[in-house]
Amino acid sequence: MRQSAADGPQPAADDAHMPAADDAQPAADGARTPEIEVGGRPMLELEQVVKSYHGAGEDVRAVDGVSLRLAPGEMVALHGPSGSGKTTLLLLAAALLAPERGTIRFQGRDLASFSEAQSSEYLLRHVGFVYQHFRLMPRVSALQNASRKLLMSGVSMREAQARATPWLQRVGLSERLDRTPEKLSGGERQRVAIARVLAAEPTLILADEPTGNLDSARSREIVQLLGSIAHERQAAVLLVTHDLDAAALADRSLTLHDGKLR
Ligand code: ADP
Ligand code: MG
Repeated sequence: MRQSAADGPQPAADDAHMPAADDAQPAADGARTPEIEVGGRPMLELEQVVKSYHGAGEDVRAVDGVSLRLAPGEMVALHGPSGSGKTTLLLLAAALLAPERGTIRFQGRDLASFSEAQSSEYLLRHVGFVYQHFRLMPRVSALQNASRKLLMSGVSMREAQARATPWLQRVGLSERLDRTPEKLSGGERQRVAIARVLAAEPTLILADEPTGNLDSARSREIVQLLGSIAHERQAAVLLVTHDLDAAALADRSLTLHDGKLR
């Protein structure tokens, strides 16, 4: 499992190590949605993606033939019952899992063509993954936690903290910069995790129930913040949420059932 790739120290690579976008083939069906035509190349493209887990018992087909496209500047909500494959879909898009069938492209580049170093690079510099369970470092401050991804990408401590601070302020944690996770509420920890992702200025944000621990007013603020980042910076956001009010703030909304999009 390469899920820990987001956490360990990463080799600093540069964009030149990413495979050339021009290697990408056009979509088999040739169909392009109008908003994607406007934005040019899709930010993220899944074609007939299948992923099963092979456990001790029966195999589980967690993602079953999913095709979707996210344009730059777009926030798409993904909802569905527990066990419908939402987290698996995000892990596939982050290259933390490999599909057994189908193709996943980021800005036209097939994730399957990435080396291990390129996958780390992709996750470090291009993807912002908001994990459902935060993954904060214990016993270090909110500011140090929010600075962590920038530090991993080679930014100095001073600059990382200077860049992370306004994001902590934007998620409403101005008064909590020095608090360790142990002294923060669940909702505050979740907001530190969101600030950590946003401070690194990702172009693709994959958020796994980022508002699960927030009250409805705060949840709305965070989703609006993600939407404004998509629109202002031409990032793409795939937002997993149970909260239909939050989903209503997205540009469009998709539902997953038993690994299939409806
Ligand atoms: P969701 O995020 O919508 O709750 P998941 O993607 O976590 O759904 O899970 C989809 C299905 O895959 C579920 O049936 C779940 O039990 C199964 N599953 C998820 N992760 C694993 C794993 N690591 N090993 C085996 N089965 C898994
Ligand atoms: Mg999940």
